[in-house]
Amino acid sequence: MTSDDLLARHRAVLPSWMPLYYAEPIELVSGSGRRVTDAQGRTYLDFFGGVLTSMIGYDIAEIREAVERQIRTGIVHSSTLYLIRQQVELAERIARLSGIPDARVFFTNSGTEANEAALLFATNHRRSSQILAVRNSYHGRSYATMGATGNRSWSASALNPLQVAWLHSGDRLRGLLARLPEADRIDAAVEDLREVLATQTAGDVACLIAEPIQGVGGFVAPPDGLFAAWKEVLDSHGILLISDEVQTGWGRTGEHFWGYQAHGVTPDLLTFAKGIGNGFALAGVVGRADVLESVPAISFCTFGGNPVSTAAGNAVLDYLRDHDLQANAARVGAILADGLRAATADLDHVAEVRGKGLMLAVEIVRPGTVEPDPALTTRVLEACRAGGLLVGKGGLHGNVLRMGPPLTLTEDEAREGLAILVEAIRTCASAEVAA
Ligand code: PMP
Repeated sequence: MTSDDLLARHRAVLPSWMPLYYAEPIELVSGSGRRVTDAQGRTYLDFFGGVLTSMIGYDIAEIREAVERQIRTGIVHSSTLYLIRQQVELAERIARLSGIPDARVFFTNSGTEANEAALLFATNHRRSSQILAVRNSYHGRSYATMGATGNRSWSASALNPLQVAWLHSGDRLRGLLARLPEADRIDAAVEDLREVLATQTAGDVACLIAEPIQGVGGFVAPPDGLFAAWKEVLDSHGILLISDEVQTGWGRTGEHFWGYQAHGVTPDLLTFAKGIGNGFALAGVVGRADVLESVPAISFCTFGGNPVSTAAGNAVLDYLRDHDLQANAARVGAILADGLRAATADLDHVAEVRGKGLMLAVEIVRPGTVEPDPALTTRVLEACRAGGLLVGKGGLHGNVLRMGPPLTLTEDEAREGLAILVEAIRTCASAEVAA
């Protein structure tokens, strides 16, 4: 069966709104290191890691062996109703790493479920279904997390179990903060929070949920320090802060282990997913004991923190530590960011190269404006693929190229991918000018 046949069957049986990248979607059949190979035998350097899930890379012996060891015991999943040694161990490690004093950990299978649980804990603790969220955010595809998602193209339902008031994002190109000098942006964002609290909420608000760098939103980051400034106001109202670290956690930003640490404040709850399982379904919430203990009845997750996924999680944490991948993300990410900035400085189609560590984005616009150019962005995505590089796309307007490669990316691989990406942007942009 060819990939074309598979695509026809995919289209016939999966819902039409399931996103698939590329005019000719790729079927991956194998992977090694930072490279993946498709059914036609074409190999790609992977700068997206399956939306930042392949954090260590493909077919890494230490991770594979840890998972295989668990599978060979026969206990692939015998329910989280029983004691699971590596689950407890992983929970202890994550609690310690979280920076939250006396933290508790609740494991789930996806980022969506982690955020759903965090919202459950926060709203229960505060006895309120009012929350604050940020425009351009993405928190998941369940009823509540979708309601907290500030990007309508990802909100499959207009109904919402929460009352949500929206704060401005850290977008430097458009919106409230874009028109301000850098030095004034934190004050303006705090003023925005105060104003939203005063005008759009009534009585107790449960929490603010925010990403330290918005992932699906196109790697848009608020100014460093904003969470601390926000938290001062939040604390005065007893409002909890949830940091959604699904994309920013585990050292990806290079400068810190968690995205929130750029803000000089510790959140009350933190959610994690994606990279920690390096492909195995593993996610969760870590947070203040009093908040997690506030649920009035059992909240159970059959597969959450199961023996296989937590074996993977511990092996991933070992690997991150033993290879100092946070430092690698900082070092290789800087090469990539500097290279991208230098190579696109003269290109009017590139409004901004942004991000931290190995979480980098290029925003594509119509020349000399901030008007998004999603069509050109798609052409660049296709040209990268033709050149042997996988990158992501995102942003509210679909005009942001996203890079979130495995944190094991080498300097040579960074330069190789950079050359393909720059060539793709330049070729597509000049074709556009000529047309
Ligand atoms: N939060 C953030 C910041 C995300 O990027 C995502 C996934 N893109 C989610 C939550 C939801 O995670 P999942 O797809 O594992 O449910």
